[in-house]
Amino acid sequence: MTTQHIPNRVPLHPLSRRDFLTRSCLAASVAGGGLRAGRLRGGQAAPPSEIPRIDPGYVGPQFFDERERQALLEVVESGSPFRFWGPGKPQKVQRFEEEFAKYMGTRFALGVTSGTAALDCAVAGLGLGPGDEVIVPAYTWWSDYTCVVHAGALPVFADIDRTFNLDPKDFERKITPRTKAVIAVHLLGGPCDLDPILEIARKRKIAVLEDAAQCVGGSYRGQKLGSLGDVGIYSFQINKTMTSGEGGAVVTSDPVIYERAVRFHHMGLTHPLFTDRIGSSTVPTFAGENFRMNELTGAMLGAQLTKLDAMVGEMRRHAQVVYDGIKNIDGIRLRQRPDPAGDIGYCVGFEMKDKATRDRCLQELHQRKVPASTLTGSVLLPIQESVINKRARHPNWPSFNSPEGKAITYGPDTCRQTLGVFDRFVLVRMGAKYTERIDQYIIDAIHQVHGMVA
Ligand SMILES: *Cc1c(COP(=O)(O)O)cnc(C)c1O
Repeated sequence: MTTQHIPNRVPLHPLSRRDFLTRSCLAASVAGGGLRAGRLRGGQAAPPSEIPRIDPGYVGPQFFDERERQALLEVVESGSPFRFWGPGKPQKVQRFEEEFAKYMGTRFALGVTSGTAALDCAVAGLGLGPGDEVIVPAYTWWSDYTCVVHAGALPVFADIDRTFNLDPKDFERKITPRTKAVIAVHLLGGPCDLDPILEIARKRKIAVLEDAAQCVGGSYRGQKLGSLGDVGIYSFQINKTMTSGEGGAVVTSDPVIYERAVRFHHMGLTHPLFTDRIGSSTVPTFAGENFRMNELTGAMLGAQLTKLDAMVGEMRRHAQVVYDGIKNIDGIRLRQRPDPAGDIGYCVGFEMKDKATRDRCLQELHQRKVPASTLTGSVLLPIQESVINKRARHPNWPSFNSPEGKAITYGPDTCRQTLGVFDRFVLVRMGAKYTERIDQYIIDAIHQVHGMVA
């Protein structure tokens, strides 16, 4: 079978080209008529029929085309969906790892089954375990907490700031003689303020694990996120950037961290492919897991990687247009961005004076069908019941049975600054397939609503 037999015109995504054209026309007619500034200033919400349907969609699938189709077909036709052996010569995951490492600017990359698995491998790579403390942002995805607990280490939360990411000052305050690592997470498309974080970490001999799951393709002062710390991880789940539905990767330039991560993802074993990359093995076998990536996933990711810059470039462009369009609003307080050029443009964020005002702002934006929300996609970890009660999978779990583990308390009083940031911010989602009309519609809506509720 060849690709000729695969019909070309079947839309790969519910948001087909035709939908886009229809929506763009609708948006054009709206911008040309119903939503002229005069109307907007009148304070009236436009009737629903005149509001463009603004759906950021899922960026990875919006870029699916013949490349993914062809790569998947090659795996099917080769009869080799497993990365290490098969009737064909399986090389999709191997090639993806090589290209991904090159793209990120690291010596090594390892494909795994998810971002969560990548975190477990990175934690194993750093050799963290019972008695160690790991600093984790109070607002982030579950996996940044569970990877520490699974290792038997103790999670210690530090607040986020107006970057939506780790506050370097609170990170420094939370350091103890037992602190072995910090997870620097780049949430909601924006890099955390890495310079001070790296400086503090180096001074105090603390390893930096960068979680760039929500920022694949982003950068900080010209270097790709995930490549600046000791080890970095990514997720390829559909809500992130490039996607294979599920999937993850670990990157590092340290051969010992790499070999430990490799072994952890393959039951503690290694493979000549990895030994060749490292040069020689220095890590003995230890008990691991199976988090190996399969060739179908590797095929998808190889194709998606060639489009990552295009995906990020489009989202970033729309986000910058909107930021530029709202930055002069009287009294507006935008999300703090340590490196706007490295932001992938997943959303635009701004802060209201209190929760009540923020909630009114959200309500007004929703009435105008603007995809606005609170901080989203993560969890206020210290206030979760299972965290407060320090529940691991066994009551004698080492994380919470050391003197420090018994003494530590979680809960709202341990993350007031984070709760404040969470309560005051509004996010507006950006999309790679937005049009200029949509950008302008969002700008106009924010002008109108901010003036009304502030
Ligand atoms: C999604 C996500 C993960 C986990 O990735 P999965 O592929 O869903 O396991 C880890 N960290 C952050 C910040 C995430 O957003």
